[in-house]
Amino acid sequence: MNEMKLYLGEVFYFTDSPLLSAENIVYEPDSALCVCDGLVVEAGTSAILLQKYPKAEVVDYQGSVLMPGFIDAHLHYVQTEITGMYGRQLLDWLNQYTFPAERAFADTDHCREISHAFLKELFRNGTTTAVAFSSVHPQSADILFEEAFRYNMCMLTGKVQMDQEAPEYLCDTPEQGEADVRALIQKWHRKGRNKYVITPRFAVSCSPAELEACQRIHADYPDTYIQTHLSENKGEVDFVRTLYPDSPDYLSVYEKYGLLTDRTLLAHAIHLSDSERKRIAKAQAIAVHCPTSNGFLGSGLYEMEKANEAGMQTVMGTDIGAGTSFSIFHTLGAAYQVQQLNGYPMSAFEAFYKATLGSAKALHLDQEIGSFLPGRMADFIVVDYNSTFAQLYRYEYLKRTQAWNIENLLFGLMTHADDRAVRATYIAGQCVHER
Ligand SMILES: [Zn+2]
Repeated sequence: MNEMKLYLGEVFYFTDSPLLSAENIVYEPDSALCVCDGLVVEAGTSAILLQKYPKAEVVDYQGSVLMPGFIDAHLHYVQTEITGMYGRQLLDWLNQYTFPAERAFADTDHCREISHAFLKELFRNGTTTAVAFSSVHPQSADILFEEAFRYNMCMLTGKVQMDQEAPEYLCDTPEQGEADVRALIQKWHRKGRNKYVITPRFAVSCSPAELEACQRIHADYPDTYIQTHLSENKGEVDFVRTLYPDSPDYLSVYEKYGLLTDRTLLAHAIHLSDSERKRIAKAQAIAVHCPTSNGFLGSGLYEMEKANEAGMQTVMGTDIGAGTSFSIFHTLGAAYQVQQLNGYPMSAFEAFYKATLGSAKALHLDQEIGSFLPGRMADFIVVDYNSTFAQLYRYEYLKRTQAWNIENLLFGLMTHADDRAVRATYIAGQCVHER
């Protein structure tokens, strides 16, 4: 126990959903996080912990919030270079910007360079776990896993499987794709903190044989994850209908091939029927809300309240590169605006929960990440809640009027914060970023 450290600050985390009980919100102004050998020992009042662990090394982050690192549950690392490309909707955007950018990942040096930049950008923004799409090239996933492994990071990724409706240079075949994925699973799944995610891009770019290959792989490795896109854009929904005329709706394409499971992440899930919502909830699949992307591509408004009422699990994603920011703060602020347009003023607690413990639970990873309960990996961030002048004026006003509290603190981060708010990022107790 000689590597014990005490991080002083304002500890904040959830023990369960804040929508169930306010008692699931833990916040203490003068508190500390005790970490040993990369794991959380406990979190609590600083005076008590300082006395209990007199030999621990003290790291002073007083005046900042210590919270679990963010989980970005949907983004494309191979689109790191193409955020903010002007104009158009999903299907044109893919053809004009995405596919040419992804083509470059045939080159392993490029995979290495962008993997590195991608991880740095995640850490700079306080994201400690990502569920990421690689490109169709197996080396793109291989190298991202390798880089994440170096940091002892919880990385979920997979090589894209797609065999139609895309340029030939980005298509695999169901056979080759399956062989490549099986090799990647054997090499990386559960190695360190890496987890493999079977990645059929979306129904449009997958033939029935490709989806069957995904189904076979998941049947053989049931603790892998599955990620895809669902009902992002109306043109896409119509296109799926023409490609799969026997399927009554978009979701049923994935159901038919056994791909709707409690380990399936469905990015966007905007244009859904009540029946689709019920079936997603019943399967305990995970919808990933990506508000900056949905606004940027004009895709539509994700219906959080309806999803909650149906019992669906929603988590948060940036969807880089259609998403416009790596920042989860920014993403939560955008989600708030989308939900406002739906007439649902989502609380700051709900927003932060869905990017931390709520996401960890949906992924069956809450024993590893998402909170400061004892034994969790020490993946945490140090957050400066006054990193801009606008925040400082707001803070001083709320202090003066005795209205400063954790809810105001979090909501201010959602509306104002970006990477400047992240003072430091720790993965398994190691500092990987310091502002
Ligand atoms: Zn996406």
